[in-house]
Amino acid sequence: MVGCYQCDDEWGWTIVTDRSRGAPTETGMTVSESSLDEDTIVRMDDLTVTFAGEGGVARVLQEVSIEIEREEILGVVGESGSGKSMFASALLDAVIEPGRTTGSVEFNPRSGEPFDVLGLSSDRLQRVRWESIAMVFQGAMASFNPTMRIRDHFEETIRAHGKNHGERMAHAHELLSALHLDADRVLESYPHELSGGMRQRALIALALVLEPELLVMDEPTAALDLLMQRSIIDLLASLQDRFDLTIVFITHDLPLVAGLSDRLAVLYAFEIVECGPTATVIEDAGHPYTRALLRTVPNVDVPVTEMAPIEGQSPDPTDTPAGCSFHPRCPLADEGCESADPPFERLETEHEVACYHTERARESVEYTLRDGEVGP
Ligand code: SF4
Repeated sequence: MVGCYQCDDEWGWTIVTDRSRGAPTETGMTVSESSLDEDTIVRMDDLTVTFAGEGGVARVLQEVSIEIEREEILGVVGESGSGKSMFASALLDAVIEPGRTTGSVEFNPRSGEPFDVLGLSSDRLQRVRWESIAMVFQGAMASFNPTMRIRDHFEETIRAHGKNHGERMAHAHELLSALHLDADRVLESYPHELSGGMRQRALIALALVLEPELLVMDEPTAALDLLMQRSIIDLLASLQDRFDLTIVFITHDLPLVAGLSDRLAVLYAFEIVECGPTATVIEDAGHPYTRALLRTVPNVDVPVTEMAPIEGQSPDPTDTPAGCSFHPRCPLADEGCESADPPFERLETEHEVACYHTERARESVEYTLRDGEVGP
């Protein structure tokens, strides 16, 4: 059993107290001294991203620590500007200059030893990015070269990684068909000849053609209409099952990911504030921010007056409030909240919340769910 691991208990949630890394290996990897359970595919520890500029140091990801279980679907949700995309970039050591990433991202392949993604040589990192961890971004059009057919993208990827052309193209056909596409037609098409939904599905197939174990998706359906979003969510669930994938699905759309994910991690102000099984977080959220987020979900069973946007703005990364970063927007904030960052508290389930007043939040920040509207 794995999870956010700020606490240590009988379920195997672990405190990592020794964050020192081992020596780099001859392959350029850095192997952590800590061992990973075989069911854990990724352990992010104290992952922090900063950008230094004239306006000061912007912390755009703040000491994120979480374990990802093999073959689970982890939903990462938060408002715009909460650090979601930086979470994805840091996981792949893809933060652009002059950003600085610290902490560790241990990846535990099915075969071979665990390694720290942040300690890889650039050659090894390029291989890991397609062969072990793949990523799909919002807006497939920008990810494809408009002058190349879809087939060329597959062939170039296969060639660059020295893989068997026949085997991989057969897998490309299998993936495209699994995504309900006419493989022959799509492969011969240029990106502009496909609809947005077809392009996004072709991009998912391309990401999976080298059979990575982990697929990271950053707002992959944001540019699509609702029907296509739902269709892609259904297809992802079936792909995950068929190819034993682990998926990290990053989005601002809580209802969308709630229907897909096994667990949810809620990001606010560049750090995780709540994490747990999806059904538990949705039905019994413990953090005032999560509960406020759930109040923003459109719901025909709730009067419009009870639906409310979250007041105030996300913090500026160069000027994050002291103490609990949500306190300027939180109806329950008191002096204690302003002076010290709340530690994670484990609730009665595998469910952790960083808040001093979880019980008060449950009593006073109300939200209503409609069956089938939000949740798995
Ligand atoms: S710690 Fe205080 S300010 Fe932060 S979310 Fe909880 S009640 Fe609100």
